[in-house]
Amino acid sequence: MAYPTPLRFLIDQFSRFPGIGEKTAQRFVFYLLRQPQADVIRFARALMELHDSILLCRVCFNYAEKTPCATCTDPNRDQETICVVAFSHEVGAFERTGEYRGTYHVLGGNVNILDGITPDKLRIKELVERITRSDTKIKEVILAFNPDLEGESTGLYLYKLLMPYGMKLTRLARGLPRGADIEYADEITLADAIKARREV
Ligand code: ZN
Repeated sequence: MAYPTPLRFLIDQFSRFPGIGEKTAQRFVFYLLRQPQADVIRFARALMELHDSILLCRVCFNYAEKTPCATCTDPNRDQETICVVAFSHEVGAFERTGEYRGTYHVLGGNVNILDGITPDKLRIKELVERITRSDTKIKEVILAFNPDLEGESTGLYLYKLLMPYGMKLTRLARGLPRGADIEYADEITLADAIKARREV
């Protein structure tokens, strides 16, 4: 079926989203058509302002509305503990557990030499600077990576790099099944994994 050009364009745009095929993209577009125009305009405005309203925290490199972000400046959080993750959306997964009250550091990916993601392409230098130059003495760094090959190599790389600085280095407990993503782990499993974390 040939769609009118504006519909075709939107279907193509949604089809480019991770995990979204043509059929789901069509459903999204027809769903939007059925919504009141005011709601669709609010949605469109949020998209238009996305890049202007969201920035990277200069301390933890998570997406935020201000920098330093609310987590990095919250006196009720344990500023002496840093949970290092590969991607921003993993911060959300740990926050949903309600179990972790420290800070984060988002690397922006995993070390993957074969794909050309060398350590200098990630925010590893910034992590070391944060540890060495911060007014707050960092007592623990949690290496919170997925239990897969990339996650393991990133954790190992950071372990070797950070060992000389003398803080406690921990990793998630073996609750996460190998190959399971932090992103998709249920809250209880992830809460247990961070609660029972142990020294590397
Ligand atoms: Zn921050």
